[in-house]
Amino acid sequence: MIQKIDLRSDTVTRPTPAMLEAMFAAPVGDDVYGEDPTVNALEEKTAAMFGMEAGLFCPSGTMTNQIAIKVHTAPLTEIICDVTSHIHQYEGGGIAFNSAASTALVHGERGKMTPQQVEAHIRPLDNIHFPETRLVALENTCNKGGGAYYTVEEIAAISGVCKRHNLALHLDGARVFNALAASGDSAQDYGLYFDSISICLSKGLGAPVGSVLLGSKAFIKRARRIRKVLGGGWRQAGYLAAACIHALDHHVERLQEDHKKAKELEQALLESNYVESVLPVETNIVIFKLNDTYTDAAFVAALARENILAASFGPQMVRFVTHLDVTDEMQQHLLQVLQALNKHEVPA
Ligand SMILES: *Cc1c(COP(=O)(O)O)cnc(C)c1O
Repeated sequence: MIQKIDLRSDTVTRPTPAMLEAMFAAPVGDDVYGEDPTVNALEEKTAAMFGMEAGLFCPSGTMTNQIAIKVHTAPLTEIICDVTSHIHQYEGGGIAFNSAASTALVHGERGKMTPQQVEAHIRPLDNIHFPETRLVALENTCNKGGGAYYTVEEIAAISGVCKRHNLALHLDGARVFNALAASGDSAQDYGLYFDSISICLSKGLGAPVGSVLLGSKAFIKRARRIRKVLGGGWRQAGYLAAACIHALDHHVERLQEDHKKAKELEQALLESNYVESVLPVETNIVIFKLNDTYTDAAFVAALARENILAASFGPQMVRFVTHLDVTDEMQQHLLQVLQALNKHEVPA
């Protein structure tokens, strides 16, 4: 019997034995005092990778995004982001709660905004009717956009708009390593364009916990104060940082395998007779729409009977996410099940 295949998210991975060993061996100290050598090493490593001055290790990507938004904005200011973005859809209304700021929502293409769309959402200056635009936030890859990614050229063009209008630019890079793997862009170049970057090690890279917020020294100093207020000042967090360092050293190159598996799933879905459409697969996310053969609930239930977990993603919509705990053997089983779910006409 095949093990459970969990495609609900790339957050479901378990630490590998080698990762656990690295965690056990980590030198640690009290991070609130700035004395955890492994946390400091992770912050320095990721900042250097992305061409940024400093980093701040946090428990979640929601926390890194919310801290960044808090530092960049003030009450009565506004953030431009795509309507599907995680910061708007999936952070519990945190922008209003933590920052008392509003959002100007762009209807982009699969989560991606154009420079023209960003510019069109900037509020006129010196008109008291409007909030003051302060920040633009991109997501790369775009989760709800089916894992679509921005290239560094596209990012540079949006950064140009921000610089002309004196706006900060933040990246929700929960899956930025998938974007880099697919585009072939250099992480170093990101430092030229973003004022802050949130990266997650607990998604495709397979660490159990952890995100890092990157920015200038002054930005991170302020961010550290906000993290403390949110209850995110942690102590011997180096055991977790060690997992993140291990993930960066061992689990980045293999992301191509996840992308290849996602492409194979896309192909199987396109060849089936129960799928209406599939969002073009660019990375490790496969979002598809069922025709009336199955409801999303019935389809997810049929998969569950084959020991496959998938996420219902809205009416008739289902999401698969590939990750490092999906083995080649599991992939073969998945492809067989997707084929077996085809409805065949029974001759009269
Ligand atoms: C998962 C995710 C986050 C952060 O989520 P946490 O569960 O809080 O770590 C942020 N942005 C996007 C696009 C995500 O997919």
